[in-house]
Amino acid sequence: MTDSIALRKAWEEHPHYKYRGCAPDPDEPGRAAGDTSLSLDAWHGEDRDGSEPQRERLAREQAAVEVCLNCPVMVQCGTYANSVVTEGGKARLAEPDGIWGGELALERHRAFIRRRHEIAAPAPARQMRTPQKLRVLEALAVHVTPEAVADAAGVDVRTANWQRSRLVTQLNLDKQTATRRELLAAAVERGLLDAAVVVADDGSVPAVPPPSKTAPEPEAAVPTQLELWSGTLPQSVPVPRPARARRSRSARRVVLVPGGAPSPVLPLFPTNEPMEAAA
Ligand code: SF4
Repeated sequence: MTDSIALRKAWEEHPHYKYRGCAPDPDEPGRAAGDTSLSLDAWHGEDRDGSEPQRERLAREQAAVEVCLNCPVMVQCGTYANSVVTEGGKARLAEPDGIWGGELALERHRAFIRRRHEIAAPAPARQMRTPQKLRVLEALAVHVTPEAVADAAGVDVRTANWQRSRLVTQLNLDKQTATRRELLAAAVERGLLDAAVVVADDGSVPAVPPPSKTAPEPEAAVPTQLELWSGTLPQSVPVPRPARARRSRSARRVVLVPGGAPSPVLPLFPTNEPMEAAA
């Protein structure tokens, strides 16, 4: 963190900092000094709900990047924004959102992931290029909730989550901490996804949603034999299903006792002899 603070200080204290392209224009404070057609939000106005049309987003981002490319503190800006900080044992970019130093958040995350995993050997591309995985990735690029991703990919939620989990592993990401944004950035990096279709989020959406926790159903009270036979069983108590009939070796017939084991009943007559003979 200390390095990031020092790098931010170096950027802000640079003699040309006040001439940066994204500074407020002196005549129109809501507009950028480097291009007054742009709002100051053009650099870090994340489109979190996906409502901004893709064409408008791409045009806005391109215009902001062009301003950056003429900015006198572009190097200092990018160096600070792409420095790494560690919080709670997890490493992240100092500025994970928005355009900094002429680069989009997605590009910066891709570079970050490349640096982190440059030693690890990724899975072969053919393992990740299955039609279902690619459909899940494309759905994840524009949707956030597990249900919407599954629906757009044409699979059930469980399958979509499974494929997301497989992709996280195959792209060498940390299953415990990987975010949707990191997964998409890694997929773009591997050529599995077109960066233009990715809708940004705030970086807090997990790559693989945790399993939903449903409350266990309360155990049903087991009725007593007396309740079963006397008919005093309360309505809410389910009657246990009778045990399945099973032939015994010692007897040909069985009597089923609800909730209990089958009781053998001796045959009234020897089975191989006619009734007349027994009479
Ligand atoms: S390089 Fe940084 S300081 Fe310069 S315009 Fe871009 S975001 Fe602003």
